[in-house]
Amino acid sequence: MYFILEIAFDSDKGYMKTIIDAVAEETDTKAKTFQYGDKITVVVPQEDPTLETFLQMLETRLPASIYLRGSHHTLADEPPALSTGYVNNLPVDLSLCPTCQKEMFDVSSRRYYYPFTSCNACGSRHAFLETYPFTREKSVMKFIKPCAACEEEIRTNPLRKNYPLISCIECGIPLRMVDKKSERYANDKGTYRTLFEVSARAIAKGKSVVMKTLHGYRKFYKLEGKADPEAILFIADVNALNRHLMMVVQEFNALLSIERPLLRVATKSEEAKAHFGSSVWTKYPDDGMSMLLARELINAGLEYVVYEPCDEGETADFLVDFDLPVTPQKDFRLFINQDTSLLIDGERSIFPQVVREGKPGRVSVAAGLACVDTEEGRIIDRPEHFAKIPAREVYVAEGEKVALENAKPFSVAKAAMLSVLAEHDKLHESAIGVHFDDRLHFLYYNQKEVIDVVPPRAFEADNLFAEIATLREGSDRLVENFRAKFPALYERLDNLSGEVDLFKVTAILLELENESFDGISEMALSFLGKGGMQIDTKVQDNRFNDYAFLASLMSFKLSGAEQAILCYSIYESFGDYIADIVTQLLAKTKAPALTLSGTTFANQSLWGRIQRNLALKKPLLNKNYPMGRENSVYGAQFL
Ligand SMILES: [Zn+2]
Ligand SMILES: [Zn+2]
Repeated sequence: MYFILEIAFDSDKGYMKTIIDAVAEETDTKAKTFQYGDKITVVVPQEDPTLETFLQMLETRLPASIYLRGSHHTLADEPPALSTGYVNNLPVDLSLCPTCQKEMFDVSSRRYYYPFTSCNACGSRHAFLETYPFTREKSVMKFIKPCAACEEEIRTNPLRKNYPLISCIECGIPLRMVDKKSERYANDKGTYRTLFEVSARAIAKGKSVVMKTLHGYRKFYKLEGKADPEAILFIADVNALNRHLMMVVQEFNALLSIERPLLRVATKSEEAKAHFGSSVWTKYPDDGMSMLLARELINAGLEYVVYEPCDEGETADFLVDFDLPVTPQKDFRLFINQDTSLLIDGERSIFPQVVREGKPGRVSVAAGLACVDTEEGRIIDRPEHFAKIPAREVYVAEGEKVALENAKPFSVAKAAMLSVLAEHDKLHESAIGVHFDDRLHFLYYNQKEVIDVVPPRAFEADNLFAEIATLREGSDRLVENFRAKFPALYERLDNLSGEVDLFKVTAILLELENESFDGISEMALSFLGKGGMQIDTKVQDNRFNDYAFLASLMSFKLSGAEQAILCYSIYESFGDYIADIVTQLLAKTKAPALTLSGTTFANQSLWGRIQRNLALKKPLLNKNYPMGRENSVYGAQFL
């Protein structure tokens, strides 16, 4: 008999398998692990005397992950005929696995309070990478020689077998803490711990600390009063989550997952509401530096603080720094609505990605990332990580700030749609696509190319009121009434020029404190009523008309409608408009598939409406790529 454990894991990344294999080796269990598609299968002969130990250990050693969808086990007479599919073992930046975390807080270990503790399955490894392949010689650790104990570990510790970045307090990276008067160093067990203790106590006393983390510089401080829009809630004590925030279990698991996303969570306590309003971008400690600080913040009596991502030069009372020039990635944001979880945008934990399809010799560039053929395969990462970029043809996303010779520009909306189809293996079917970032596109894929069937109209903030006044009969009166009732606001809007997107104009019009798309989302979340108001989205043809939309908001504002219901209604109206056009297009083209892409969909109000209107059409979304601009670097491989 064979014991078969099946773990649903919706990613080709190898960190779970690495841990399972290491635990099998440590317990001397004859387990075979196969990863393919969206599953990891572990097969163990049932008479194996260490089976029980192996399973118990897995439970404590496997981290939570946003890609985990549960597990179950069965028994079988014969081992299943399986082979491992493609597993991506490139170094992605993760939080720490349970084993490394335990080590970092174990006073008897060589890595007690050592923030660079990591292994083959966890930690910020990409931050140390200079160029491919991922070896010590090609990392910023190249000049640091491992001590004898680390050398021994490279051979004997299954989790750190041949681990390129192995280091410990003995042979690792010292830290430095600086204020106006003094400097202190951490280079042995006692001093590492003291440094974090001093930092946390300073924060508790109301001081600010700029800390170089493996995810970039962060300015940590205790919050007094209302939070800045950029401030991220940093949860030190896990118990604070349920005390201050309102979360479903999926959100709770995601925040604590080894990928450690940024998640917008609704506030619960009066205290949190006073600081942040109805919701806040939240982070659970995600790298060694932040985790150690969090531990000492708890000791200093703080269950949470805030941080703002910043530059090295940011002024603060203290600076905690180290000399290695690590390159942090852009943090990633996750969207959760019931059982749906979507990567919104960012790099960390998602890239580097391996692309196994696509066009040989084609380099595609978007969101600061490039897809490049290398000896290790076709990899998506920032261009500086490739020693050379051989290219037969170069595709660059529209609006990308790079100057490359002979580059062909491509439409992000079209490439985004192709990325979704490719991820679901649907490039052989025709499809309708909706792409919604700051503009709204309706697309049709005819199995060869993507056509913009309802392209967005040009929108300019320059002649806002002139455009609105000529929309239809009576529109000029609306503009006059608005000018009379809100003279200062009228003046502000009238003076807008250049590239201001619709959402920013909308936020200004509604006088939101946070003048951005985010501000509208946040305000929409605070609406507690049932239905919204019907906001005009089009004039004669089917195309979304920005000016009609703004005119409609102006008249609601004139009649005294409140911000919250207006913001909520914006998404409701968008949802209805999208569903209406999609239904028409699907009927007309008989396309079997529907794709949604673009970060604007990552919004509770809009998503709710889309689900209500389009769930039966089973829309496809990105799985392992963000729904933002990053997906187009992959999608452009199929243009
Ligand atoms: Zn680890
Ligand atoms: Zn060492």
